Amino acid sequence: MERRNLWAPWRMRYIEQLGQEAGCFICDNAANPAHDKDNLVLWRTQYCIVVLNKFPYNNGHLLIAPVRHIPDFEQASEAELVEILKLIRESQKALQLAIGPQGYNVGMNFGRCAGAGLPEHMHVHIVPRWEGDTNFMSVCSDTDVVSQSLSELFEQLKDVSEKNNLPDVS
Ligand SMILES: [Zn+2]
Repeated sequence: MERRNLWAPWRMRYIEQLGQEAGCFICDNAANPAHDKDNLVLWRTQYCIVVLNKFPYNNGHLLIAPVRHIPDFEQASEAELVEILKLIRESQKALQLAIGPQGYNVGMNFGRCAGAGLPEHMHVHIVPRWEGDTNFMSVCSDTDVVSQSLSELFEQLKDVSEKNNLPDVS
């Protein structure tokens, strides 16, 4: 079977900075609601935040994280667990409305050896997928293009959230 990974060269900047311990960006984001727009924090719920990944594997790559700085499910409360699951559902709803993905990768990495860039603060990756997106992404490898499209997409997701009362985590 042919294996085709997404090629995301702008992630090099992120990978390069992993060596230098730079604090926890999820905690930074959670503690600074005034900077939600710059930080691309899409939603705040009772226990979680949902952020557009600034170093995306694909267009619309979202991160769902509990506000508490905890590494894994073992430390999560029932309420946090339920809200994380509901936010996976709500994230897919919003992405569907905004950019109509044809599929999703939803996943988590625990521990550096498993690919976690921030192993101390658990988070779920929601990565939208389209037929042929491995080809599309290689065309769009410029970091400026990526960051410009990120803020446009952020506004688009804000807009569909408002119009459709998302996220519903009740
Ligand atoms: Zn943290």
